[in-house]
Amino acid sequence: MNTATVRLYNTFTRRKEDLRPLDDGVVRIYSCGPTVYRFAHVGNLRTFMLPDLLRRSLDYLGYRSEQVMNITDVGHLTDDAFDRGEDKMLVAARLEKKAPEEIAAAYTEAFLDDIGKVNIRPAAQYPRATAYVPRMIELIQQLVANGHAYEVGGNVYYDIASFPAYGRLSRNTTDKLMAGARGEPDPRKRHPGDFTLWKAAGQHRTQVWDSPWGPGFPGWHIECSAMSMSIFGDRFDIHTGGADNVFPHHEAEIAQSEAIAGHRVVSLWMHGGLLMLSGTRMAKSAGNFFRITELEEQGFDPLAFRYLALQAKYRAPLNFGTEGLAGADRALDQLREKVAQWSRQAGSIDESWDSRFRAVLADDLDLPVAMALVADLVRSDVTPGAKAATLIAWDRVLGLDLNRAARERPLPAGASALLAARQKARDARDFARSDELRDQLASLGVTVIDTAEGQRIKP
Ligand SMILES: [Zn+2]
Repeated sequence: MNTATVRLYNTFTRRKEDLRPLDDGVVRIYSCGPTVYRFAHVGNLRTFMLPDLLRRSLDYLGYRSEQVMNITDVGHLTDDAFDRGEDKMLVAARLEKKAPEEIAAAYTEAFLDDIGKVNIRPAAQYPRATAYVPRMIELIQQLVANGHAYEVGGNVYYDIASFPAYGRLSRNTTDKLMAGARGEPDPRKRHPGDFTLWKAAGQHRTQVWDSPWGPGFPGWHIECSAMSMSIFGDRFDIHTGGADNVFPHHEAEIAQSEAIAGHRVVSLWMHGGLLMLSGTRMAKSAGNFFRITELEEQGFDPLAFRYLALQAKYRAPLNFGTEGLAGADRALDQLREKVAQWSRQAGSIDESWDSRFRAVLADDLDLPVAMALVADLVRSDVTPGAKAATLIAWDRVLGLDLNRAARERPLPAGASALLAARQKARDARDFARSDELRDQLASLGVTVIDTAEGQRIKP
């Protein structure tokens, strides 16, 4: 199959660029993955949905792709805990009375379960940070040797002044870089914005490694340079992450990797928009996060969250609310119901609609337009069989399980007795009674329609 030219928005250049895979056969994608000292929330899932939609789209358009996603299994690597010297992995371990490895294993498993619920396909590899510490130490040694890093008192810092392009990805000025340095700055740093590559162990006793600078642990940013270049080499196609990773995490990764490689390492940087709740970013620290299983317990289909996410451009922030989710849940059920009905008729993919769908995907994964196309196709005069075949094909990208039968919803209390009574009334041709019962059912939120096969509940 001929592959369409795919255009993707590159955060680095702030414009859409043609995807030109370095190796014709396969597009290599590195994605920043979860920290596994806590559950992923739906905001994290939205971030991980970006590389999934990217891979599914590439696959649909005839490309092969290979994705690597790292697992951050060292709590003190993470940025939010780092400068306060707080170690979330160890805090979690202490609270749950388990070893850090057990905590990491349990939350990694929960992460894989959660992404499965929203049909995010697993990556080809999930390297763990703790398995790459020797490689991180090697990279830090190289950075010290080539003048990009310096040691003070067992800590190693990246010298941002040594890398003039620092700040380019995030369009940060030196002032903002300084403001970006958190907590108590180490007065021994050459520049307050110099970031940590290696941190002296201090009071830490677990998850500490020996190094040329004494016992300690690596900074968060070096993790992704080490894993991406160990697995893909020093050039690969696409790096993904959340918008909150642009600075400092990815800015730092570029400074590290390029100072070592001596050239550009990542061709395209893609960032997913954040999930907002009442105007605030969904985050554990803000205390406003939901796990997908919580939404499931509230009666939502987890894929309703995916449906909701598909309605927004991946780069844009998405406002999340249970009302919007309920709407998505109903819309998804109705769509499945239609596909189930139409599937009873034979039909093949409508090529003209499909080429429009492909063009939309190739234009920077424009899923909101793809979803509008779904709605247009549903209303179109295409034959039912062709509609079903086309929608089921598109579902390889959308991942909404459209050929799954609409979910059985539990009926409200009293509804089944009313339905039985109404069936009896209809059998007795007592239509006045039947209409009365239909109104009573409607007041419970149950809409009945009469078909040749008898009464049915409208989904
Ligand atoms: Zn990363």
